Amino acid sequence: MSFQFVKKLPIPAEIKKQFPVSEKAAAIKAARDAEIKDVFTGASKKFLVIIGPCSADHEDSVMEYVRRLADVQKKVSDRLILIPRVYTSKPRTTGEGYKGMMHQPDPDKKPDALAGLIAIRKLHLRVIEETGLTSADEMLYPENYWYLVDLLSYVAIGARSVEDQHHRMTTSGMDVPAGMKNPTSGDLSVMLNSVVAAQTAHDFIYRGWEVSTNGNKLAHVILRGATNKYGNSIPNYHYEDLIRLLHMYDQRDLAYPAAIIDTNHSNSNKQYEEQTRIVKEVMTNRRVNPRLKELIKGVMVESYLEPGNQKPGCGEHIYGKSITDACLGWKESEELIYDIYNFCEA
Ligand code: PEP
Ligand code: MN
Repeated sequence: MSFQFVKKLPIPAEIKKQFPVSEKAAAIKAARDAEIKDVFTGASKKFLVIIGPCSADHEDSVMEYVRRLADVQKKVSDRLILIPRVYTSKPRTTGEGYKGMMHQPDPDKKPDALAGLIAIRKLHLRVIEETGLTSADEMLYPENYWYLVDLLSYVAIGARSVEDQHHRMTTSGMDVPAGMKNPTSGDLSVMLNSVVAAQTAHDFIYRGWEVSTNGNKLAHVILRGATNKYGNSIPNYHYEDLIRLLHMYDQRDLAYPAAIIDTNHSNSNKQYEEQTRIVKEVMTNRRVNPRLKELIKGVMVESYLEPGNQKPGCGEHIYGKSITDACLGWKESEELIYDIYNFCEA
């Protein structure tokens, strides 16, 4: 039997007790959650910019990134809500390579699950306490969500997970908006089926418990482009794609139809610089069609301190440069946020 039980890990309640949320942080999170929720219910016309590195690989450079974002947030707060992407577990196309801070708190060292669980909790806590922002993360492993449940303001379900029943049912118990990505095949009905499942109440088994959920009415979709059978990227952020999504939403009885456009991955064909153009196209399409303006609640952008990416473990590590998908650098990202601001109404 090759399955080895290496170490029994503390349950979420134990780790939370060791690294609790301060009263100040809890108040920041409650206020931010309410503000973000209002965007999805339509009570607020603010636009969401979910932005940050593909993977939160090093605590120091991620914190520097989020501090810079918090400075910009102050200047755009009348129109935009900036949500840092602090992604601590990474789905991998072939299963190989860096799987995120949850597995490897130090990307150059061996996996260490206990240190990883502590590192990701501390990082999300630092974001709230030191910057006043609250982050988005991907729920790659439903059973690990509870380690971060009190810290995240936005959760994404990845393209490779969105068809999975356990992901969908866990999402149905979340109190924060959850973005269900289109699967890598691009099938929009699979994506919308996942929103139906996430918005519905469920009874199931979770972490050794029988649990029940109420359904998460803030579950919505994220368009991230697709890959066809020849391995080519097929974008789905163009006007016709958005109109198709609108019609598909119209045919379903879902609460709060909403979409976020992921500008990297198969939408940019991983040409990360294209993200600025893609964002502007989306903003223009929102402007020309009031129904799209209502539907498209935000964009998701991959961005870090330095542009591009680098292979981990190959030569000297460049601080603030992605070790997974290539990202926009800080300078272009900051300019892009002000461009988005100018597209939005006061
Ligand atoms: C990501 O957001 O970095 C990511 C891996 O996304 P997707 O699930 O769309 O591939
Ligand atoms: Mn990525």
